Amino acid sequence: MTLPMAAWRVSYTPGNWLVLSGPTTLVVLAPVQPRKARLINQLWTDVVAASSVTKLLELLSATGLSELPDFAAFHWDASGLHCFLRGGLQVVDIDTGDVAVSGSDVVTWREEKLGAARRLRLDMEPKEGEAGLALPLVVGAVSAAAIFLTTADSELIRFVDPLDRGVLPKVPVLADRAGLASSADAAPVSKLRPVHSSEPSLPEPGISASQFAPPPAKHLASQPAAAATGDEIMAAMCHRGHANPPSNRHCRLCRGPVDPATAKLVPRPTLAGVATNRGEFTNLQVPVVFGRSPKHDGVPAGARLKAVASPTKDISRNHLLLTAKDWDVVVTDLNSTNGTTVKPPSGQPFILSDGKTVKIELGTILELGDGVALRLEPPRED
Ligand SMILES: [Zn+2]
Repeated sequence: MTLPMAAWRVSYTPGNWLVLSGPTTLVVLAPVQPRKARLINQLWTDVVAASSVTKLLELLSATGLSELPDFAAFHWDASGLHCFLRGGLQVVDIDTGDVAVSGSDVVTWREEKLGAARRLRLDMEPKEGEAGLALPLVVGAVSAAAIFLTTADSELIRFVDPLDRGVLPKVPVLADRAGLASSADAAPVSKLRPVHSSEPSLPEPGISASQFAPPPAKHLASQPAAAATGDEIMAAMCHRGHANPPSNRHCRLCRGPVDPATAKLVPRPTLAGVATNRGEFTNLQVPVVFGRSPKHDGVPAGARLKAVASPTKDISRNHLLLTAKDWDVVVTDLNSTNGTTVKPPSGQPFILSDGKTVKIELGTILELGDGVALRLEPPRED
């Protein structure tokens, strides 16, 4: 079986604008300062994973990047191609030469549905003389002067499903399939050229996603946490083999469709891991306690203790507990003195205190105090 690599075929000519490309989302931004490389790496990871137009727009609003004067995004879903545009950018239909979408004279951005089969071009920089070399772009980040995008089915880039060939015994993630496992680690946008000093700077209030190391392109998708103990759970599989709650219609990790007919008992998967903004990572295979000087008092037997530095003692000795329960990850305040600020990926931040427990989703940031923050991420290989 072959699979399309992405919903479209994209090529680009090199230039200064930043293009972040995922299989169903593509974002074009004005030139970005090199010091934003980490933020951009995280944004790229999120762009790749964006499962809907709404998610993509939330994401861009959250970073402040959508405030830039010139901005374009494409997203593919069941209804075809969507384009979002603002500023001086214009999307041109290659076949007719007509302007398909124009970003001028809009206050927020223009959204246009472009249907299923289109061949489009977007020039970010004025063309000088001969057209430059057009290079393929599948999943990754490049500095570009223009992009060309076609959604015609016959032009899509296809590849043999590695699962069919049995070459990938572990469950692959999309970035592996695209052969780009190293590009996410290697700060693909760090080569951006310097930009104009008038470029608006991006907000980085408090502790933000940019403080965390970008997750590796390979994450542990389905390693059983308890294969040896016989601890099993009912799960249905996506076509990549990720275990999901049987009621899920979309995979919790790759957003691919989940086939309810595959529901069966499987070894309990590791649901998530915890990254600290000090660069450490712990899979949630057993409950994990974070604190200034954590002890086994009053926490589940077998819990792992993780000490975090707290010179001003903002963080309590036993501060919080993270536990995987069925298909959920919950965080419990261990009657800490100052509580924890919980920042969900969407929704308002709140304080968790007084021994309370809440469910959290991937991407949630937990601020413990003394500048220490944790983020719930997909699990990784040990
Ligand atoms: Zn999946």
